[in-house]
Amino acid sequence: MAHQYIYRAQLMGTTVILTLFESNRSVATAVFSSLTKLESLLTVNGLNSEVMAINQAAGLHPVTVSPLVFELINYAKQASLLPRSVFNLAIGPLVKLWRIGFKGQTVPKDTKIQECLRITDPNFVELNPEMSTVYLKKKNMALDLGAIAKGYAADIVNVVLDENGVSDAMIDLGGNVLAKGQSFTNEDNCWHVGLQKPFAERGELLGMIKIVNKSIVTSGIYERFFMHRGKRYHHIFDPRTGYPLDNDLESVSIISEASLTGDVYSTIIYGLGLMQGLEYLSHQQMLIALFVTKDKRIICSDKLHFDFVKLDAAYSLWYFDKQLKQITLVH
Ligand code: ADP
Ligand code: MG
Repeated sequence: MAHQYIYRAQLMGTTVILTLFESNRSVATAVFSSLTKLESLLTVNGLNSEVMAINQAAGLHPVTVSPLVFELINYAKQASLLPRSVFNLAIGPLVKLWRIGFKGQTVPKDTKIQECLRITDPNFVELNPEMSTVYLKKKNMALDLGAIAKGYAADIVNVVLDENGVSDAMIDLGGNVLAKGQSFTNEDNCWHVGLQKPFAERGELLGMIKIVNKSIVTSGIYERFFMHRGKRYHHIFDPRTGYPLDNDLESVSIISEASLTGDVYSTIIYGLGLMQGLEYLSHQQMLIALFVTKDKRIICSDKLHFDFVKLDAAYSLWYFDKQLKQITLVH
C-alpha cells in the first residue's frame, strides 16, 4: 500500500490540503505559490488585488487585468447570463451589505437591499477582450468571485501538477476537491471523498463518494450563516430578491471534470432546488450531482457514474431516473 504525503497551507480563506504519493516539498511549494498568486489577484478582502482595482474604478473607468483574471471574469459573466442562473458575478454589493460570516452580520433594511439590486445586473459588467479590460458601468458596483475562485484555483493546481509530472494527487480547498488520477492507498484505486453532514462537526460524514480523476464541489447552507429571530440566513443569495436563497436543499455537490464548472454549477443547481435541479441536470450529460435535502434524503442525479457509500442511517439514498423523471429509493 502506497504512502501518502500531506501538505497544508492556510490560503484563500481556508485550509488547503495537498496529498501526494511521494515526499516532494518542491511540488507542494509550486502548488501553494500558484494559489498565493491567484489569491492576490482575486481577493476582495485585501486592498491591492486586480478585482479590488476593478471595484474601486466602478462607474469611473475600465481596468486592465491579467489574462488569468480576464478569463475567469469572462466565464463568470457568461455563467451569470445563463437562463435561470442564480449565479451572479456582480453580487458584491449584497455580499458587503449582509456581511454573512463576518463581524457585523445583520438583516439589512429592505430599502438598502433594493438599492443594491439596482447595481447587480451582470450586463453592467463590460468586458473588452482585445484590451483585456473590465469596466463596471455603475458607481458602487462590485464583483465577487468568491463562489468560483476555489474551483478555478483547483484547475490551476491541476496544471501545475501536470507541469511537475505529478499524475495522481488530491487538492482539497475546503469543500472544493480535485481528485487527480488515482489513489494508491485505497484497494480499489479510487479516491474516497467524504460527503459532509450538514450542520454537524466538520468531518462527520453522510457518506463516501468514490471517484477517479474528477472534481467534487459542494455548496451548502451550513458553511456560513447566522440566526436572527429563529430564521437562518446563509451566504448564497438570490440575485432576484437580494435575500438568501430558500428551498428544500441543505447542500449540492457537483462531480465534474473541471472544478470551475463544478463550482459554478453547485451554485446554479442549488439555486434551482431539488426538482428543477434534477430536471436541469438531465440535459447536462457532463455533470453529476448529489443533493442533500432538509428532509434527510441524499439524491443522486444519476445512478451509473460513480459509487456512493452511505454512512448515516438517518438519511435515505435515492437516485433520479432520467427516463421516468422520478426519484427511486436505493436504501
Ligand atoms: P463557499 O464559500 O462555502 O465555498 P460558495 O462556493 O457556495 O461557498 O459561494 C458562496 C460565496 O459566493 C458567498 O460567500 C459570496 O461571496 C458569493 N455569492 C453569494 N451569492 C452568490 C450568487 N448568487 N452568485 C454568485 N456569488 C454569490
Ligand atoms: Mg462555489
